[in-house]
Amino acid sequence: MTDDSRAPSAPYDPGNIFARILRGEIPAHKVYEDEATLAFMDVMPQGEGHTLVIPKAPARGLLDADPASLAALIATVQRVARAVKTAFAADGLTIFQYNEPAGGQTVFHLHVHIVPRREGVMLKRHEGGMADPVMLADHAARIRAALDSTGG
Ligand code: 5GP
Repeated sequence: MTDDSRAPSAPYDPGNIFARILRGEIPAHKVYEDEATLAFMDVMPQGEGHTLVIPKAPARGLLDADPASLAALIATVQRVARAVKTAFAADGLTIFQYNEPAGGQTVFHLHVHIVPRREGVMLKRHEGGMADPVMLADHAARIRAALDSTGG
């Protein structure tokens, strides 16, 4: 019996938007980068400070990713989540990750969402609308400052 649980429903497409950000072909409001991961602002935030963390190694989703890449990814998620919480004085954080269209995924390079939350404030709709780039630049600067101040 073959185990197809790791197989993505389609091959990894290097033309996806996050691969293009990694190659520097399109801009992003970056907050953190190391040899294995990159974090940047979501252009259609579901809440103020919505940040994405991606591995540099190509993977379509969680199931086809290399475990070493996942280890680096989750370490960066924790690091950036702490800074996001500080930068936005958040009461909590919602952290989520979608796989395949049926799971809600729209960009097919593995990514983790970090959204700072305030008591009583609902999340906005997924991919609801483009944010003001000046605001995104300001939010990215706030998160970078929080990373610097915590030694993150
Ligand atoms: P998914 O549904 O795949 O988990 O989420 C993809 C996310 O990527 C969405 O929240 C969407 O707003 C965001 N996104 C889509 N295109 C771009 C882009 O060109 N730049 C950035 N920074 N985020 C994007």
